[in-house]
Amino acid sequence: MHDSFEALIGLEIHIQLRTATKAFCPCPVDSFALPNTLTCPVCLGHPGALPVANRAMVEHAIRLGLAVDASIHPASTFSRKNYFYPDLPKGYQITQFHDPICTGGRLDIELDKGRTQTIRISRIHMEEDAGKSLYNSDGIHLDLNRCGVPLLELVTKPDLGSPAEARIALAAVRQLVIYLGISDGEMESGSLRCDANVSVRRPGGAVPTTWTELKNMNSLRNVETALTREIERQVTLLRQNMFIEPCTFSWNDEANRLVATRSKETTSEYRYLPDPDLPPVEVSAALIESLKATQPELPTARRERIMNRYHLPAYDVRILTAEKSLADYYEQAASHLRRKTPEAFRVLCRWTTRELLHAIKEQSSSPEHPVPPGHLAFLVDNIVDSTLTVRTASEVFSVMVRERKHPGDIIKKQDLLQISNPERILDVIETILDRHPELVQKFLSGKTALRRFFIGEAMKATRGRANPSMVARILETELEKRRSRA
Ligand code: ZN
Ligand code: MN
Repeated sequence: MHDSFEALIGLEIHIQLRTATKAFCPCPVDSFALPNTLTCPVCLGHPGALPVANRAMVEHAIRLGLAVDASIHPASTFSRKNYFYPDLPKGYQITQFHDPICTGGRLDIELDKGRTQTIRISRIHMEEDAGKSLYNSDGIHLDLNRCGVPLLELVTKPDLGSPAEARIALAAVRQLVIYLGISDGEMESGSLRCDANVSVRRPGGAVPTTWTELKNMNSLRNVETALTREIERQVTLLRQNMFIEPCTFSWNDEANRLVATRSKETTSEYRYLPDPDLPPVEVSAALIESLKATQPELPTARRERIMNRYHLPAYDVRILTAEKSLADYYEQAASHLRRKTPEAFRVLCRWTTRELLHAIKEQSSSPEHPVPPGHLAFLVDNIVDSTLTVRTASEVFSVMVRERKHPGDIIKKQDLLQISNPERILDVIETILDRHPELVQKFLSGKTALRRFFIGEAMKATRGRANPSMVARILETELEKRRSRA
C-alpha cells in the first residue's frame, strides 16, 4: 500500500455482556425497554447508594480470559474514571484501571492464504456502560437504561499491520464472544464496539509517539474503511514533513467519513481514583477450574470436530462455523438425516452453505427462520436416495423458503418425485425417437452431438423429473437398437 511506511494499529473492543442484571445493581438489562424505566439509585449515582459487583460479569471476564490464554488475577480492583457528560449522571464511570482482572494473552487470527498471525492482548477489564444520548430537533434526549450495563474492554497491543488485519481481528473477537455465550456480539445494535489507535512509521523505525484514536466504527466494513482513510492521511502529512497531532476522530456513518471530535485526552485528565465502595474482586483457583471445566466449545475446536465427524472439506467447514448459529443449524439438521453417511453429510453441507445461506442473506434472518433443520434434512435424504433430482430439489427448496411448508407436502402436491421407472423412461424415449426419424438417421451417421438434444427432450417431457443417468443409459440402448435395425 505505502512502500515506505508501515501502519501500527491497536484495538480497544467493548463487549456488552449478556447478563440478567447490571454490573453493580439489580436493575434488569433489556435493550427494548422503554427509556428510563430500568434505573435505580445505584446506577444513577445517588449519594449513599452502594454498588455490588455482578458475579456473572466476573465469570464472563474469566471465560474470555481463559479463551485467549490471559493471566487471570486473584485480586483486581475497580476505579472511578472521572469525566463530565450528560449521559453519565454519576460524573464517573466505574472501570478497572490499575489492576484489571486479566492481562496478557493472545489472539491467533487467520489471514488470507492460510497465513496466521498472533495478536498480543494487553488487558481485559470490566467496566460499566454510560447512558444513551438521542439527538432530536428539539434537543438532546437521555435514556439512562444503559447506565451500569456490564462491559468487558479488550485492549490489544498495536500488532495489527493493516486495516484488513484489524477487521479480521475484530471479527475473531466477535466470533469468540458469541461462541462463549457471553455476548450477542451485534455491532449494529452496539453490543460490540470498536475503537482503534493508529500510527505509521518507516519500516523498522522507532515506536511512534503520536497516535490518533478512531471511534464509533459500528461495522466491520467501517473499521476497515476508517483505518484506511486515517493511514492515508497520516502518510500524506509525513511525506510533507508535517506533524501528526494526537486527535480523536469519530466515524460518521451518514457522511461516510471521519470527523475530528476533540484533542485526545491523556490518562491523567481522567483522574482515576480507586472506588472506595467496591472491595477487590477475588477470583479463587477453584472458580477458575470450574469455569475451565464448563468452557463451551470454541471456534477452532468446533471446526476440527465438525471436519472429522462429518468428513467435510476444510473450506466448507470454515463457512459453516463462521457463525455459530449456522454451525448449530448444520449439526441439528445432520441429526435428522435418515442415513448418516459421509455422502449425506456432504450434500447437507452443500445445501446449508449455499442455498440456505443465500436464503438467510436475502431475508437477513437467523437460520431457523427460512427452513427448519428437519425440513432441510428431509430434502437431502430425498436427493441422496435419488427420489428427487437436484433440479427439482432446488424448486422444492424455493417453495420451502417462500411458503415455509414441509418438503414432503410440496413434493406430494406437485407430483415432483424423480422418475426412476425404466419402462416409463423407455416410453418417453421411444416417443421422442419416433417423432424425429431424420435426426436419428443423422446421429447414426456420426452426428453424436445430437445425443444432448435427445436427452434434453426427455427431460422436457418429464418436467425435469427423469433420473438423468437412467435416461442416458436407456437412450444409448435404444439408439443402438435402431442402428442394428437400419
Ligand atoms: Zn440500577
Ligand atoms: Mn472503556
